[in-house]
Amino acid sequence: MPRFSGKTVIITGSSNGIGRSAALLFAQEGANVTITGRNSDRLQETKQQILKSGIPENQVNSVVADVTTSEGQDELIKSTLEKFGKIDILVNNAGAAHSDPTGALASDQGLDVYHKNMQLNIQSVVEMTRKVKPYLIESKGEIVNVSSIAGGPHAQPDFPYYSMAKAALDQYTRAVAIDLIQYGVRVNSVSPGVVATGFAGAMGLEDQASKKFYEYLSSEKKAIPAMVAGTPEDIAWIILFLADRKMSSYIIGQSIVADGGTTLVLGIDFNKAMQ
Ligand code: NDP
Repeated sequence: MPRFSGKTVIITGSSNGIGRSAALLFAQEGANVTITGRNSDRLQETKQQILKSGIPENQVNSVVADVTTSEGQDELIKSTLEKFGKIDILVNNAGAAHSDPTGALASDQGLDVYHKNMQLNIQSVVEMTRKVKPYLIESKGEIVNVSSIAGGPHAQPDFPYYSMAKAALDQYTRAVAIDLIQYGVRVNSVSPGVVATGFAGAMGLEDQASKKFYEYLSSEKKAIPAMVAGTPEDIAWIILFLADRKMSSYIIGQSIVADGGTTLVLGIDFNKAMQ
């Protein structure tokens, strides 16, 4: 029997990138999935990919919604319960780095940019967690948050508010994990490095510029020692691992870094310095 057979999963931000890949894998591993995002065309593409892989339509609940709104969150939960009757796993994946349109660095970036980043990358996670909590307690379920290596400890002067939101998310993961484990609910997160998705496009880069962005970073050993950008599947498999009680039952409140080595390099070449 597939390992998520009979489980119901809500994956936010599944109209693209990492969330889309996770939705596909969960469905292929037997889960009922609620997929969601604001862009209905891209959401439809996720649904089609799932159906094309042989999954019956009654395993998929597709909801166009803005996860930063109370109505969007309520619709996600309500429709999931109506269609599948319960919630076992919540993947808080929707996120984006809203940049300052003026190109200003940290201390000059506007409060509008601050609010947008906070609302999507941390507040919506807090709200979804609070709303889904009773159902997860009932099912003894799991939460997997998608954070980022941008959360620290390196400084991120170009994206201070996005990075602050992810740092806050890491602390939230730890705090809520210790709270909810008393009810048998596990909470963990994954912190990706550079992953080739719609992320750069959501920052405002055109397709070609987005491609160059990932190519450039992958060609820099100091940026990514593995010299390749991660794929959505690289991260999605970790999400499934953390959602799988058999595979990861004793991991509580942790974040798994998946970054091709990015966070381990300092950019200092001691060999050259000693010549
Ligand atoms: P994508 O841009 O490919 O996907 C982001 C998803 O989030 C989309 O489905 C998008 O859907 C959804 N989303 C964004 N805003 C909202 C909103 N207001 N309401 C509902 N859905 C929303 O990027 P990734 O797959 O890369 O991003 C997934 C997660 O991974 C994010 O949390 C990101 O911070 C994190 N991450 C990504 C990294 C990378 O290099 N790619 C690195 C580190 C972390 P739609 O546009 O349809 O609303």
